[in-house]
Amino acid sequence: MSRQKLGQHFLRSQPVLDRIAASLEATPEDLVLEIGPGKGALTKVLLDRGLRVEAVELDPELVEYLRGQWPPETSKLRVHEADVLEADLAQWGPVWIAGNLPYYITSPILRRLFALGGQMRSAVLLMQREVADRLVATPGSRDYGFLSALTQWRTVPELLFRVPPGAFHVPPKVESAVVRLKPAADSLTAVASEERALFEEFLGWCFAQKRKTLRNNLRAHVSGDFLSTRSEAKLRAEQVGLYEMGALFRAIQDTEGWSRVRRGGIATAKPPDGARIPGES
Ligand code: SAM
Repeated sequence: MSRQKLGQHFLRSQPVLDRIAASLEATPEDLVLEIGPGKGALTKVLLDRGLRVEAVELDPELVEYLRGQWPPETSKLRVHEADVLEADLAQWGPVWIAGNLPYYITSPILRRLFALGGQMRSAVLLMQREVADRLVATPGSRDYGFLSALTQWRTVPELLFRVPPGAFHVPPKVESAVVRLKPAADSLTAVASEERALFEEFLGWCFAQKRKTLRNNLRAHVSGDFLSTRSEAKLRAEQVGLYEMGALFRAIQDTEGWSRVRRGGIATAKPPDGARIPGES
């Protein structure tokens, strides 16, 4: 893949780098997983703070460069030449996560981080501003969608600050922003851990077609009789908050409200891992 396609926009603003590192709220000797270290601009700030860093970088030339700058024998940096979408991110145990993300794969990276659950202490991530706005959007607002619901179900997201294109070399064509994610408490919705995969799949069905009501989007999966008893079925998914989504899911599960076809498939329902997020280009 070409450099441009790998989303190589290197941060060159020291204040932005310092702010990202400080926002992690990690203390010396804590372990940070850095996604896409590039030439090590953020890595250096993390190491200068006494943190240990496991960095995952896809570009072999950058991996060699980083290992030359910070040899593993004499530094607290370990560089792994790997695709962040395929690497085993749970191998290091609980970690703080930082990265100026390759924008072309922001959503799949987020989904991999959500799967870490409480193993992710906190994540401070630089991403396209439009995506950051979606992560923190409230139900009913223009930006609220499947990615917002998924993010707010799994984490507590905070939009920390905006970053202009001039903070990078080469400047991206879009605005950027830094978001902090902390794992959400399990009790946010009444979804048990063994039901998580099915609940995420359910969220995907709810948002499948933005302009359709829940009744229409869920028609293939939930029984018509059940849906006719629910007032929220007349609304679109973006108008319904997460608590209500959780309650609807709970009611379907408890009353066996799935459609007959779906009921046969529940036991084997797989998470929509890696699935394209509706509305993402
Ligand atoms: N952190 C550096 C900085 O701020 O200067 C570089 C950030 S740059 C936006 C994204 C980095 O992610 C690049 O170094 C790129 O090679 C790397 N990258 C792209 N796709 C990747 C993937 N699938 N897995 C791991 N790293 C990837």
